[in-house]
Amino acid sequence: MSVPLPATACAADLLAWAGHHLPTPEGRAEARLLLLHVLGQAPAWLYSHDRDPLDEASARRFGELVVRRAAGEPVAYLTGSRGFWTLDLAVTPATLIPRPETELLVEQALARLPDDGRPLRIADMGTGTGAIALALAAERPQAMVLATDLLGPTLAVAVGNAQRNGIANVSFRRGSWYRALGRDRFDLIVSNPPYIRADDAHLGQGDVRFEPPPALASGEDGLDAIRLIAAGVNDHLVPGGWLLLEHGWHQGQEVRELLAAAGLEAVQTVVDLEGRDRVSLG
Ligand code: GLN
Repeated sequence: MSVPLPATACAADLLAWAGHHLPTPEGRAEARLLLLHVLGQAPAWLYSHDRDPLDEASARRFGELVVRRAAGEPVAYLTGSRGFWTLDLAVTPATLIPRPETELLVEQALARLPDDGRPLRIADMGTGTGAIALALAAERPQAMVLATDLLGPTLAVAVGNAQRNGIANVSFRRGSWYRALGRDRFDLIVSNPPYIRADDAHLGQGDVRFEPPPALASGEDGLDAIRLIAAGVNDHLVPGGWLLLEHGWHQGQEVRELLAAAGLEAVQTVVDLEGRDRVSLG
């Protein structure tokens, strides 16, 4: 049954209508986000204005977004942005949507980056929106961060995000993995590479159906990109430098073995807020 969008409506009416399409508590929160996005308002607005009459064009625009969300499109692609760390990032279908669990990678990297003003060189390979590179650049203004991505349209989003957040100590290079790093060596290399098995049913569910496949899947066992990164790391780190990689919760042991086989020391895996293996480093 499709319930018609109320013609003249306030926010409360529109959200009640959206509840028919997005009935879960999460869906209701998403509907509020979409409405605030359409109206260009901050969350607090809803507390004092939810009975104000709204213009018809905004109501219709909101109605379209709710229907698209109910059909599966990710909220971040509908609003065009997502918060990550302290940043507000533009997000397009050319980029993976930054995930909260990737903030663990930022935390673990920061724990290994001295904050005493000494110059640092950091590389983020496969940067997507630029989330990791920009968070590290913001936290370590004395560092020079190089962010790479294989795809031009993706890198353009990352470049825009540096401007959007006023971050100047990042440079961008297009290219695949170490090829984009050239002969330079880094104090810390970080990546959230694709790591899902090509035949994983997860790829057919939820937001990932709309995300760029090269950012997600990586060969039969999901480890193609991580194998390549581990194998080449010694040519690109300074002595005592660190490599940190995000991976799937079931891949900790294999990734630790790959890092150890590459000659890295102090290899360990860190668990995310759900207690699952998420980041390995050495
Ligand atoms: N964490 C993402 C997911 O499982 C995958 C991200 C990635 O492959 N780098 O949806």
